[in-house]
Amino acid sequence: MIDGRVPAVGITCIQIQTAQKQRPPCVGQNQTYVQAMTRAGAAPLLLPLLTDHTLLRVLYERLDGLLLSGGEDVDPALYGEPLHEQCGPVSPERDEMELTLARWAMDDGKPLLAICRGIQVLNVALGGSLYQDIGAQVPGAGRHRWYPDYPRDQRSHTVLVTPETRLADILTTTSLPVNSLHHQAIKEVAPGLAVVARAPDGVIEGVEAESHPFALGVQWHPEDLAANEARHQRLFDTLAEACRGQVAGRGP
Ligand code: MN
Repeated sequence: MIDGRVPAVGITCIQIQTAQKQRPPCVGQNQTYVQAMTRAGAAPLLLPLLTDHTLLRVLYERLDGLLLSGGEDVDPALYGEPLHEQCGPVSPERDEMELTLARWAMDDGKPLLAICRGIQVLNVALGGSLYQDIGAQVPGAGRHRWYPDYPRDQRSHTVLVTPETRLADILTTTSLPVNSLHHQAIKEVAPGLAVVARAPDGVIEGVEAESHPFALGVQWHPEDLAANEARHQRLFDTLAEACRGQVAGRGP
């Protein structure tokens, strides 16, 4: 695996607010994503905010796979809905960049793992919509918003995974406790995506693309569980494995 077949995986970043007033906008992402990918034998590459499609395409072409990470809410205008008062901060640049990357990866069959905001981005990129706030818009839903004052590895609810799906195969189970650090979720599922996991209250927690070598989204944060629980690490291992297929496919 370290013989020239190490895949490069692009990880999208979040806009970081700093206390320093004079500091220009910053981007970055939790190191747990980086650690999960390096454990999987992949070389992670944090991607800047970039909306110029020509430049973005240059970076995209050099990547063997993509990890769409957690963060801000997606602008509801992108799925044709008015802003709900409980919708959180949005990042138009990040939306533009990630929707573009998601569509390219879906068109090209480039391996893609989408986490938290990522599963929402993937759904919107393919024409789906979101609940802007589970508490306000999903009657009877349990609590999914366990942040920011809770441990990120707190298992807050169970996820039920559809048997005989790729996700069930990766996780080696059809029921497992997960963390839950989100207040939005998929509403209308985009064409081409199949729901493969739900919380007991019905909230969608996992999707797979039907006609793609490896495109998977989860609503929880496996990167914050993967260091201590192998089945969550397997999501990253399987992404890296799919990317190595891309590496091998590029030629000698
Ligand atoms: Mn949840």
